Amino acid sequence: MSTNQQLFDRAQRVIPGGVNSPVRAFRAVGGTPRFIARAQGPYMWDAEGQRYIDYIGSWGPMILGHGHPAVLEAVQKAALEGFSYGAPTEREIELAEAIIGLVPSVEQVRLVSSGTEAGMSAIRLARGATGRNKIIKFEGCYHGHADALLVKAGSGLATFGFPTSAGVPLEVVQHTLVLEYNNIAQIEAAFAEHGKDLACVIIEPIAGNMNFVRAQVPFVRRIRELCTIHGALFVFDEVMTGFRVALGGAQSVYAKAIPGFKPDISVFGKVIGGGMPLAAFGTSRDIMKHLAPLGPVYQAGTLSGNPVATACGLATLREVAKPGFYEALGASTQLLVAGLSAAARDAGVPFVGDSEGGMFGFFFSADLPQHYAAVLATDKDRFNRFFHGMLDRGVYLAPALYEAGFVSAAHTAADIAATVAAARGALAS
Ligand SMILES: *Cc1c(COP(=O)(O)O)cnc(C)c1O
Repeated sequence: MSTNQQLFDRAQRVIPGGVNSPVRAFRAVGGTPRFIARAQGPYMWDAEGQRYIDYIGSWGPMILGHGHPAVLEAVQKAALEGFSYGAPTEREIELAEAIIGLVPSVEQVRLVSSGTEAGMSAIRLARGATGRNKIIKFEGCYHGHADALLVKAGSGLATFGFPTSAGVPLEVVQHTLVLEYNNIAQIEAAFAEHGKDLACVIIEPIAGNMNFVRAQVPFVRRIRELCTIHGALFVFDEVMTGFRVALGGAQSVYAKAIPGFKPDISVFGKVIGGGMPLAAFGTSRDIMKHLAPLGPVYQAGTLSGNPVATACGLATLREVAKPGFYEALGASTQLLVAGLSAAARDAGVPFVGDSEGGMFGFFFSADLPQHYAAVLATDKDRFNRFFHGMLDRGVYLAPALYEAGFVSAAHTAADIAATVAAARGALAS
């Protein structure tokens, strides 16, 4: 029996499903999860010593690749100074200043430890600041596993949702309206009916939790208009896209197409921690003044702004802020998507791919899906076969059709070429 299988069997005795986050269990693609022993640059090695080119990067945070020297040094130095104090530190100010300096819509941030916590707190802040209860989210977007956000669409338009998880009471999601991504008619109808009760609209601007689906510019523009007219807040969940698709996040990409565009609240995670548990939400001073200890919206965290995590995040942000970083990262990512597309074309397999900065997605389909139902209609069996074909050839893609991929600055043209060669092999078999 393989070492990975032995570890998986042992894990399943003491950890539900053998994993601490469900997608790691390979349920969507089948097979045995690889237990990772170490990683360096663009590579990970499993417990059997097998090397993989890593296109997950811890689901986004490892934008510099694993073990970047400047980040390692910052983390080692911080660890020697103490792991956690439960009291404020200068580094929290530095990280807040760094985020605010890069994202013009954000005047203040609160640091937390996970994207889930940041998303949940952003919703509470939006509700507290507006004095309203109802929220809109979109099918296929993930904002962490807070109760009110684990919800799927009801049967008709503008009806409130149903929990997608056991353990979430119907009453808890009764204020969450779930609409189709990129559907302008639905968002207009929802505002017409509920506009005065809506606290916020939360969106993944480039949805990475249904592979890779862009919110179309007219859709984002219309939500912005409707939020402004009705006094609702527009929440950009940039946990995945922040400092990943561009230095200023997805909001900077939309601001190019929609002059003056800004969301009201931004949510960050993943890259800002550089691989450590760290996330944040931020907005104007005027909205932030509702947050404790200034205002009545409660939010707290024992490990929030942790000194080792902030050192890791700050060192990471310093690297990505260097001139030309996203140009180079975006070029590598485009090279990968173009190579995969060419391999599929030569194999006669329908394939579409897209990318922005260091985030990419692809579907075995003739057209890029615009919403979740269209993602579900793409060829899942083909994806699963391709995933295993690539894994067997030493390329680690996200183990589910519903996840984006990530390229790091450590991926070289040779790594991309090796990946494309693997794809040609995987698609031929
Ligand atoms: C990953 C993710 C989250 C949740 O972050 P965690 O740190 O896993 O809790 C929230 N929103 C988006 C868009 C994400 O990609």
